[in-house]
Amino acid sequence: MSSIKHNLNLKADQCVKCGLCLPHCPTYRIYENENESPRGRIALIQGLINEQFPVSHRLKEHLDHCLSCLACERVCPSGVKYGELLDHAKQSLSKKHTTNRYLVTQGLRLAKNKSAQKRLQNLLFIYQRSGLQALLRLFKLSSVEKITRGVSAYKAFSTSNQTKSKKLGLFTGCTGHMFDQQTIKDCIFLLEKLGYEVVIPEQQTCCGALHQHNGEMDTARELASKNLAAFTGLNTVVYVASGCGAQLRQYHTQTETHPSTQSDNPAFIEICQFLSKEDLSQFKFRAFPQSVSVHTPCSMRNALRQKDPSPDILKMIPDIRLNEIPAETGCCGAAGSYMLSQPALAATVRQATLDVIENHASQAVTTSNIGCRLHLSAGLPNKIDTMHPVSLLVKQLIR
Ligand code: SF4
Ligand code: SF4
Repeated sequence: MSSIKHNLNLKADQCVKCGLCLPHCPTYRIYENENESPRGRIALIQGLINEQFPVSHRLKEHLDHCLSCLACERVCPSGVKYGELLDHAKQSLSKKHTTNRYLVTQGLRLAKNKSAQKRLQNLLFIYQRSGLQALLRLFKLSSVEKITRGVSAYKAFSTSNQTKSKKLGLFTGCTGHMFDQQTIKDCIFLLEKLGYEVVIPEQQTCCGALHQHNGEMDTARELASKNLAAFTGLNTVVYVASGCGAQLRQYHTQTETHPSTQSDNPAFIEICQFLSKEDLSQFKFRAFPQSVSVHTPCSMRNALRQKDPSPDILKMIPDIRLNEIPAETGCCGAAGSYMLSQPALAATVRQATLDVIENHASQAVTTSNIGCRLHLSAGLPNKIDTMHPVSLLVKQLIR
């Protein structure tokens, strides 16, 4: 037995089949089928590793339905590393029958190709202004319209370029330019106001999370090396999307074969966590006398195992009424490329979060992950704003 197979079997054997994870699994809640639960999927993955049954379309579907939300890992008393098992299973599966694979493959190619991203961004910008959106409305493709609404023509992010004693890097992620420009501009603005020199290396690329969760481990390692090289010389790198952070924190183990990048790896810190340690009391904020739902992405809660720091910084805004969406609500359904590969199931999973937001009677929703923001926004009425917590903070800042 190969050592990889042996290790995976050891990891799968850690599951004692207690079933405590089942009520926390969004797909088990929907299907009430053991094969759609963490325990069932671990048994399927073990059967796959040991070639106990042939690879079938049904088997792949059960694994593809998993959101990789890791709610199961968070509650597992045996410490089963479910995410690692699933990533390895996806790597070993042939890509032939994977549901909606075409879209995912194109998305993965796009994520690591900056020139293609710039071209697409400019095309989307032209599309917005061409009247084609009205055509999409006719075909009821309003969620596509909502996702592309905020796209502007490609432009590199600008900083003040002033040399300061306090210096940090900013990781923008592959979707940052296209879908999250305002958030990144707001982060630069606030960090500079706090006296930091913000460095945004042009050579940085996709974090590799989408590739890793779709079984493309070699590409994920290659992207990790490129990013570490891009941020060489910086001690601290702040990231904006928690989905990227869950991948960035693995760089130290992913790049074992690249010892040249090991010694000077920076510390990667999520922007709200970084800001929660800064003195924000030096700023004055306008009152925001409204209800705001605070969404904590699974990548933050389950993968990074981090308490959401955003309520602490949002409390700086006078009169704001913060309503945290409870952990039991589960994943919002975005889950990286899942909203593209499993759109119907992603929308069904999202409903629980939309119901909570409706109960909060919120006028705005904050979330620290761009994928969650786009997916939630597509399911919410237009009158409810979705934004990154830093954007709400900057919007209310008195200048
Ligand atoms: S994954 Fe963990 S919680 Fe779920 S059945 Fe196995 S041991 Fe129990
Ligand atoms: S990662 Fe999420 S969707 Fe997948 S088995 Fe675990 S709880 Fe269920």
